[in-house]
Amino acid sequence: WDMFVLAFVERLFRPTYKKDDFVLGKKLGEGAFGVVNRVSSKKSNSKEGDLVLKRATEYGAVEIWMNERVRRACANSCADFVYGFREKSSKKGAEAEYWLIWRFEGESTLAELIQSKEFPYNVESMILGEVQDLPKGLERENRIIQTVLRQLLFALDGLHSTGIVHRDIKPQNVIFSEGSRTFKIIDLGAAADLRVGINYIPKEFLLDPRYAAPEQYIMSTQTPSAPSAPVAAALSPVLWQLNLPDRFDIYSTGLILLQMAFPSFRSDSGLIQFNRQLKRCDYDLVAWRKSVEPRANSDLRRGFELLDLDGGIGWELLTSMVRYKARQRVSAKAALAHPYFDKEGLLALSIMQ
Ligand code: ADP
Ligand code: MG
Repeated sequence: WDMFVLAFVERLFRPTYKKDDFVLGKKLGEGAFGVVNRVSSKKSNSKEGDLVLKRATEYGAVEIWMNERVRRACANSCADFVYGFREKSSKKGAEAEYWLIWRFEGESTLAELIQSKEFPYNVESMILGEVQDLPKGLERENRIIQTVLRQLLFALDGLHSTGIVHRDIKPQNVIFSEGSRTFKIIDLGAAADLRVGINYIPKEFLLDPRYAAPEQYIMSTQTPSAPSAPVAAALSPVLWQLNLPDRFDIYSTGLILLQMAFPSFRSDSGLIQFNRQLKRCDYDLVAWRKSVEPRANSDLRRGFELLDLDGGIGWELLTSMVRYKARQRVSAKAALAHPYFDKEGLLALSIMQ
C-alpha cells in the first residue's frame, strides 16, 4: 500500500496536461501506431521545456502503463515520461487516441549517429564534451563502442530487472539524452510486462524483422494465453525462468554491437544482407565468420580486428549475445560483468591520457 500511496502522491505533484496545452513542432516519427511530434507547452508555469508528444492508437494505453511503471522502477533506463492521457479522436467517429508526453531528450538517436561517417568519434565528443586531439585508431574506437554498449545494457538491465521486455530494441529506439550525456531507451509501444501479464500475448507482427531474434514468440507457444493479472504475477517468475524472454532483447542488442563494429552492416541493406548470411549459417556466428573472413574486404577485416582486441574479448561477447537459442545468450546483467567492459571504456581512456 505504501507503494500505491507514494505513486499517487508523486502523480499529484506532476504537471498534468490536456489536448489544448500544446503547440505542435517538427514531426519526429510516424509509424502504424501513432505520430510523434516535438511540442512546446502553452502553460506559462511549465518548467518542462521542450517536450515530445506521441498520439497513439489503441496500443497507447499499454505504452502509458509501461512508461508509468518504468518511471517508478527504473527511471534512468528510458526517456523521462511526463504524462499520458486518453483523448477523443479529432476525426468524427474514430476510436479514442492516447496522448503520451516525454521530456525532449535530444536531437539524435543511435540510428542517426551510426549512419554518420564520423561514427564513433561523433559519439565520443557527445559523451565527453570537448575531446583532446587523441590519435584515432581501433583502440579508441573500441573504447567508444564499449561505452555506448555498456550504457545500453545498463538501461536494458533496468527494464529486465523490472520484468519488462522491450521487444523492439534497435538504434532508432535508442536516444542520446543531452542532459545526462547517456543513451536511453525509448518506444515502449511493443513492450511486455511479464510480471503482471500486461501485453502478455506476443504481438509478433509488431516486431522489426531486421533486429528480431529467430524465435518468433518470446514466450513458448505452449504457454497458455494471458492469465488474469494475479495469476500471471504468481506465475511469471517461473515463466520468466522457463522462457528467458529478456534474451530476445539481447539478440537485438548484439546486432547493434555488430553494426557499431562493422560499418558495412549499418545500412538497412547491409544489415539485411548480414541476416541472410547468418541464417544460411544456421545462426552460428563462428561459422559465419569462417565463411566470410577469407574473402573479406578491408571494412570487414577492420571490424574483426576491433572485436579481436584484448584477446578477442569483444568477439567473445558478441558471440554470446547473437545465438540461435535464447537460453545460450547472456543476460544483460551478465553481459555488464563481461571482461569486455573491464577497462571502463571512455572514462579510463580520458584519465589515462
Ligand atoms: P515510433 O517508432 O512508434 O514512431 P518512437 O517512440 O520511437 O515512436 O518515437 C519516434 C521518434 O521520435 C524517435 O525515433 C526519436 O527520433 C523521437 N523521439 C521519441 N521520444 C523522444 C524523446 N523523449 N526525446 C527526443 N526525441 C524523441
Ligand atoms: Mg520507434
